[in-house]
Amino acid sequence: MTKWVYTFDEVSEAEALVGDWDSVRGLLGGKGANLADMTRLGVPVPPGFTVTTEACNAYTDAGLTVPEGMWDQVRSALDHVEEKTGKKFGDPKNPLLVSCRSGAKFSMPGMMDTVLDIGLNHEVAAELAEISGDAHFAYDSYRRLIQMFGSVVLGNPDEPYEEILEEFRAKTGVATDAELPTDALKDIVERFLEITPRFPSDPDEQLKLAVEAVFKSWSGKRAVDYRNASNIAHDLGTAVNVQTMVFGNLGEDCLTGVAMSRHGATGENHIEGDYLFNAQGEDVVAGIRATIPVGQMATDMPKAFEELQAISDQLELHYRDMQDMEFTVENGKLWLLQTRDGKRTAQAAVRIAVELVEEGKISKEEAVMRVTPDQIDFFLHPQFSIESRKEAKAAGNLLAEGLNVSPGAAVGMVAFDADTAVDWAEAGKKVMLVRPETKPDDVHGMLAAEGIVTSRGGRTSHAALVARQFGKPAVVGIAELDIDLEGRTMSVGDRVVAEGDFVSIEGTSGEVFVGQLPTVIPDINDRWLSTLLGWADEFRRLRVLANADYPVDAKRALEYGAEGIGLCRTEHMFFEAERLPTVQRMILADTTEEREEALDILMPMQRGDFRGLFEAMSGMPVIIRMIDPPLHEFLPAQGDLEHELHDLEKDTAASHDAEIKEIERKIGRVEGLHEENPMLGFRGVRLGILMPEIPKMQARAIIEAACDAKENGFDPKPEIMIPVSIHVKEIERVKGFIVEVANEVMAARGIEVEYQVGTMVETPRAALTAGPLAREAEFFSFGTNDLTQTTFAISRDDAEKSFLIKYVEDGILPVNPFQTLDRLGVGGLIKIAVEGGRAQRPGMEIGICGEHGGDPESVALCHEFGLDYVSCSPFRVPVARLAAAHAAINDA
Ligand code: PEP
Ligand code: MG
Repeated sequence: MTKWVYTFDEVSEAEALVGDWDSVRGLLGGKGANLADMTRLGVPVPPGFTVTTEACNAYTDAGLTVPEGMWDQVRSALDHVEEKTGKKFGDPKNPLLVSCRSGAKFSMPGMMDTVLDIGLNHEVAAELAEISGDAHFAYDSYRRLIQMFGSVVLGNPDEPYEEILEEFRAKTGVATDAELPTDALKDIVERFLEITPRFPSDPDEQLKLAVEAVFKSWSGKRAVDYRNASNIAHDLGTAVNVQTMVFGNLGEDCLTGVAMSRHGATGENHIEGDYLFNAQGEDVVAGIRATIPVGQMATDMPKAFEELQAISDQLELHYRDMQDMEFTVENGKLWLLQTRDGKRTAQAAVRIAVELVEEGKISKEEAVMRVTPDQIDFFLHPQFSIESRKEAKAAGNLLAEGLNVSPGAAVGMVAFDADTAVDWAEAGKKVMLVRPETKPDDVHGMLAAEGIVTSRGGRTSHAALVARQFGKPAVVGIAELDIDLEGRTMSVGDRVVAEGDFVSIEGTSGEVFVGQLPTVIPDINDRWLSTLLGWADEFRRLRVLANADYPVDAKRALEYGAEGIGLCRTEHMFFEAERLPTVQRMILADTTEEREEALDILMPMQRGDFRGLFEAMSGMPVIIRMIDPPLHEFLPAQGDLEHELHDLEKDTAASHDAEIKEIERKIGRVEGLHEENPMLGFRGVRLGILMPEIPKMQARAIIEAACDAKENGFDPKPEIMIPVSIHVKEIERVKGFIVEVANEVMAARGIEVEYQVGTMVETPRAALTAGPLAREAEFFSFGTNDLTQTTFAISRDDAEKSFLIKYVEDGILPVNPFQTLDRLGVGGLIKIAVEGGRAQRPGMEIGICGEHGGDPESVALCHEFGLDYVSCSPFRVPVARLAAAHAAINDA
């Protein structure tokens, strides 16, 4: 007979059965596994049991039918709990009440269902009132059960229950439900039962229906949406935890709260959280009453606090990670209701990982593995500068301050509901989702928004957790913010912001500004981040270079940890407004002499830029690519020229014969150079073959710059790269030009510069003939933007506009190949080229410089293919350093 149910004492058996801890978590869910584990550790956990994820899957697979034997096993587990607590489920004289909560392998906060206080009915409530001497508590618990059962199990809307509560609050003149007098609660129970006719008074029936409701919630829409957004598999199922209720609402020596063993937003090493006296857990999360910071417990309830602190340390040591705990103090006694690895911001993730190593709790490898490339990416995202915040404050634009629950700056137009946020985001607008509080139904809007603002809720509110998890800046719990959902406005005092107006939020400080603040990139030299990346560098095998065209980019790349330049696109140096006309003259020249005149002007400009690169990257490789201009990007538009011509012809005041002739010549030349398919056209090395004066000028600029840098005491390491090659003869020819010029320059200057000449591999032919290519090319660099374009035969400029996104949405292609390297196709060619190249030229340096060089998954493939380096934009360098370390650690 399959074992569908495990009591919390049976975790060792579950472990023996399924082998490792990960499988235990798979079977019992994260929450169930940890409750059982805490029980084993001797942490005070209210007794209970877990119905397995396998039971949930069996239930779903059998068309919502409970597997055979499951209820019998639930009954025996309940017997065991009764024995441990000395109470009896359904017995009015000595009632056991239980909670029923979902718990999947991966935490999905608030996405599935919970029912509390199961086991109450008229009789039990009446007796409980007697036994506890607290009728208020008994009827408050009973009305909570009916309400939760109605909404969670029976699927009734919340509003009618809330309306009844509202009516009684008004009638009795109280502000919160907790203050409702006992008689009112009794009446409320009757009114609730009227609108919940299917509420079963039999406790066994209550439990059965609640367990089934949790099973079903796994397949509910919001759970499915959440899993899609978080990449959680849909076939894991949820476990159900049935646990003895303990009460934080039995009087003033009771409280309930949530705590993290370290600060979830900053990572600081002290316990952080909130609690409420005389309350149930949901009151803390709902944020309706103002919570008390957990540190205050040291004064309010010192013994329980000391114990909580000790358990927090014990659990952190046991799980070797920051813990997120739920606790209750019932008549002075502390109980732990849950622990799990705490969700945290990117900053906190980095700081905690580093400090756990410094405290000797985890290894450096583990620390590196615990931080994701996405989290590193966060450090590279915008923040508001101190000055812009100061200015906004001085201008009176600080609207309000709330809790700083998820860091980072965000700017967007206020939208007051999730659907509007999604619609606007889809229309390309930047949106700020503003809600009184968020619920799981709002998640799609939260994902679409730049940031999230709520007027209610605490640090552990739904809005805070979800925002942190998805890296969205958020400010919550802004008490003075009045949101008028009907009127579609929000206000603080007499300052009113309408839906559609811009606001800017700073999730690190908790500030909300009206208007749009400019943003800046944060400090990458954060002590914890640089320590962690330093460790990543110890593990990775791939070098990380940067794609940088100007000395300022090179300097930034160096700050981010780049070890050289993997691609300098020299045509980008020509795009500048004052250079472009000269470039156009060069391209449109009829004769070599004319072209050389233009090149003479461009040469010193390039030389200056190159020298800057060599000086910034002294001692490191600087790979400079010969010009590769798809000509359509550089030539004047024919229409513009025709306009100019027309204007000159119209002007009869003076003679324009010479100018007209020149424009007509240009038009002829532009027509002659026009291509239907410029990406497959007269670009890359082809230009250099037909116009040798261009590569010669560039070689001269490079070698002269290297001589200059050397004279200035730097150590230049130029590598000259030939783009879009398809045949070894192209490389042979252009390399000839380069060597000739280099020799001439070095002889004239009396300086020796070590340089190499290599090629990009960005066509299938180049990859397939890598052996012959490597006879001439001293290094290879995969231009995977073009290599993807030419391998798939889809345009890198146009495909995303038409079919490519649909292909990915429909799963025809698993990913966008321009974003993540295609393992089999493009990757297959890369493997062939690496093998062919190194067979011809052992140990030749091979890297990648397409956009894929900064994509974590592609970096892992580059490691697998045995490349020497990846090169990516300066902003992605830190991400690539970590991704390369992950690849190496996984490999080992
Ligand atoms: C490439 O094709 O991958 C590449 C780096 O060159 P570009 O993007 O300049 O064509
Ligand atoms: Mg290219």
